[in-house]
Amino acid sequence: NRQLTLAARPKGAPTQSDFALQETAIPTPSQGEVLLRTVFLSLDPYMRGRMSDAKSYAEPVSLGQTMVGGTVSRVHQSKHPDFNVGDWVLSYSGWQDYALSNGEGLIKLDPTQAPPSYALGVLGMPGFTAYMGLLDIGEPKPGETLVVAAATGAVGAMVAQIGKLKGCHVVAVAGGQDKCSYALDNLGVDACLDHKADDFAEQLANACPNGIDVYFESVGGKVLDAVLPLLNTGARIPVCGLISQYNATSLPEGPDRLGQLMGTILIKRMTVKGFIIFDDYGHRYPEFAKDMAQWLKDGKLHYREQIEDELDQAPNAFIGLLQGENFGKLVIRVGED
Ligand code: NDP
Repeated sequence: NRQLTLAARPKGAPTQSDFALQETAIPTPSQGEVLLRTVFLSLDPYMRGRMSDAKSYAEPVSLGQTMVGGTVSRVHQSKHPDFNVGDWVLSYSGWQDYALSNGEGLIKLDPTQAPPSYALGVLGMPGFTAYMGLLDIGEPKPGETLVVAAATGAVGAMVAQIGKLKGCHVVAVAGGQDKCSYALDNLGVDACLDHKADDFAEQLANACPNGIDVYFESVGGKVLDAVLPLLNTGARIPVCGLISQYNATSLPEGPDRLGQLMGTILIKRMTVKGFIIFDDYGHRYPEFAKDMAQWLKDGKLHYREQIEDELDQAPNAFIGLLQGENFGKLVIRVGED
């Protein structure tokens, strides 16, 4: 049983040596348990937070502990009345080949309805995040301008497309021309801008002639700086993530802009609201699951995954995720399905 554990707490960007690969015996299920074989492991930005012992909304991973993470797994052995060998389940097995479960929290998946790995993306946590953050906090209305950061990623691509379904003028922001071409061709956005361009702020102003009504915040930093002066009165900002800061070891250089931010919130009477998806919206999962599955079935949502082979590639892929190297929802294929 290969397991990737946390070997050291990263200082700044994680490196390979912050992870350790260990082999242990495959565990045996007791009565009432199942042995799960990990087929797909989801890699997500929040895992950077779990590697740190800074105070957060969830407990950190301990040194030497297997890294946590959502998985799509198959039942390999069952001593549980509700599960049969071969069943597909959504689990939280972490970065390892096999895990034991007493069945609590496992969600059975039907592979005839959608590819099982979709439960880690469009039909799972990232899709749910996009759906609730945009619809409940962003409250997009037809004709409004919605700006979406990290727009080709797991969350952003769904925000952009749901925004179009709700009739918004959607301006996507992504890293590089390839991602922008993809967003224009497949996500149906009205414009896509490369945040690495020198004149990004000017391009954003040109793409938002009527200002910005909703900014779906996932990155912070330079993108937020460019968005701030363009926000309209009554603008809404669902604060979903701040990925440009996750590896930061100090405050950004330059003048303190907190006064400018608070002044804009006041003058524009803005709603800026953070949320942690399952803590705040767990009870609304059914409405998300119903709408999203229907949109997907109707061909209204385009979904892109980046599937990398082999568990031992997880650290590298994760390090890349925090630098924009992924293109689509990042998933590791750990075992055979
Ligand atoms: P993505 O699939 O979007 O991958 C991360 C993307 O972030 C990269 O591809 C890159 O896109 C962008 N990025 C990475 N580093 C930087 C940087 N330094 N500056 C600017 N952009 C950067 O990830 P997810 O869709 O899974 O997550 C998106 C955001 O949503 C994250 O902030 C995450 O923490 C947050 N989130 C929050 C949840 C909640 O409950 N609040 C739940 C799930 C996710 P590009 O190349 O286009 O810049």
